[in-house]
Amino acid sequence: MSGQSLEMRRARLSKFGCPVHGTTMRQIAEYPDGGHTYRVYACARRDCGIEAWTNGGPLQLMSEWMHLLETPEERERRETVERYRRALELEEKLRHRAIWASDAPYPAKVIALGLVHGMPVSKLANAMPRRVLKENLPVAKTLVDGGR
Ligand SMILES: [Zn+2]
Repeated sequence: MSGQSLEMRRARLSKFGCPVHGTTMRQIAEYPDGGHTYRVYACARRDCGIEAWTNGGPLQLMSEWMHLLETPEERERRETVERYRRALELEEKLRHRAIWASDAPYPAKVIALGLVHGMPVSKLANAMPRRVLKENLPVAKTLVDGGR
């Protein structure tokens, strides 16, 4: 396809143009967030659907369109990272579910979730009486290890 090299697509996007069609992208939404304003842009062509965003810097394609600007190797690398992240999220979800589903006492479950999120025991001590923490910590540790 002519005019569709990665370099040309990147050049079009850098000038707020649709990377495929070159037409000027129009702003379709605006979200203030903290000190930034996120602006969403879309290709003016109805049959296109390409969207991009910026918070003041260069225009970035939405993730589903990123492949338009990537070499096959870059795409492969990004998709591998995304798959890995999804697997980690799923693992964490299953771990939480296993902890909540256990027959352990409620404080042990709370402590276990704190440990899963890397909360130091000293911080957990502020959240409950020391005796409760001491009694439930061994069970909580078993719950955390059991989910691994
Ligand atoms: Zn377009």
